[in-house]
Amino acid sequence: MPWRADPSPYKVWISEVMLQQTQVVTVIPYFDRFLAAFPTLESLAAADLHDVLRRWEGLGYYSRARNLHKAAQQIVSEQAGRIPQTVQGLRELPGIGPYTAAAIASIAFGEPVPCVDGNVLRVFSRFWGIEEPIRDRKVADAIAARLAPLIRKVNPSWFNQAVMETGALICRPHQPLCTQCLLARQCVAFKTGRTSELPVVLRQSTIPHQTIAVGVIWKRGRILIARRQEAGMLGGLWEFPGGKQEKGETLEQTAAREIHEETGLTVRVGEIMAVVKHAYSHFRITLTAFRCTWVKGTARPKSATALKWISPAALNDYPFPRANRKIAELLRKQ
Ligand code: SF4
Repeated sequence: MPWRADPSPYKVWISEVMLQQTQVVTVIPYFDRFLAAFPTLESLAAADLHDVLRRWEGLGYYSRARNLHKAAQQIVSEQAGRIPQTVQGLRELPGIGPYTAAAIASIAFGEPVPCVDGNVLRVFSRFWGIEEPIRDRKVADAIAARLAPLIRKVNPSWFNQAVMETGALICRPHQPLCTQCLLARQCVAFKTGRTSELPVVLRQSTIPHQTIAVGVIWKRGRILIARRQEAGMLGGLWEFPGGKQEKGETLEQTAAREIHEETGLTVRVGEIMAVVKHAYSHFRITLTAFRCTWVKGTARPKSATALKWISPAALNDYPFPRANRKIAELLRKQ
């Protein structure tokens, strides 16, 4: 992994934030491109948020990118460019929770604190034969408490990385590779044949679904895009105006209403140009994009923070959420 070659605190920090909710194979190319664009903490702090989001595009959970940018500026302005070395200091920064703080403090600075994420909980619930649900906060805290005295006896950086990698590569959710595992001789789940029963994970309720209609609005060879509010999901990214279907509406009516509410424009909703399905962590969407033409009105941002008329060739300069990017790609190819 590229962040292991020279584990500077900056690289460890960027990699740990990227690895939140994201697999290693997905992160590696993003990490390389991000480091090429922002090789130092100072360069990240000085960058425009727009450029940071553009480099992050496709990795999801965009609040991570906004918080990285904000935290870099905070470290430069308040801490003379030095990344805090302890869990306590790191937790003061935006976007750094207990797991990420423990990972940075232990890997980059050798603080003896265990990192406890889903992988680690899986390994130790099997190893110790824990029968309570691992998503229960108390169970996770109890596992962290059992690990704390162990990590004090060893190199904290190696310990945490070894456990993380055991979870990611060997003690996999399905079909763990027990015969290759260094923990097998003392592992309760392996010795009692319960690797498929542990960890105990309670079923999630059905994932909600949203139906969304957006408009690709043309006016004199240009397309209208809208910038989302900074706070909230996908904050600061650009998209095609539109929104959620309301009860009793056709998708065409949704597109016309949402566009009017968002931009003040009246448009003619034409044919469907794409239907995109996408899954976020807590819900799924089906997004239908309509070709629209401007009829009347001047575009003024209402729920968006900005609106821009741009040429299709400029679509690549703006960060878009993944579902909108698919539409942008179709437009660029036309
Ligand atoms: S022996 Fe199997 S179940 Fe136990 S920790 Fe190793 S991979 Fe996981």
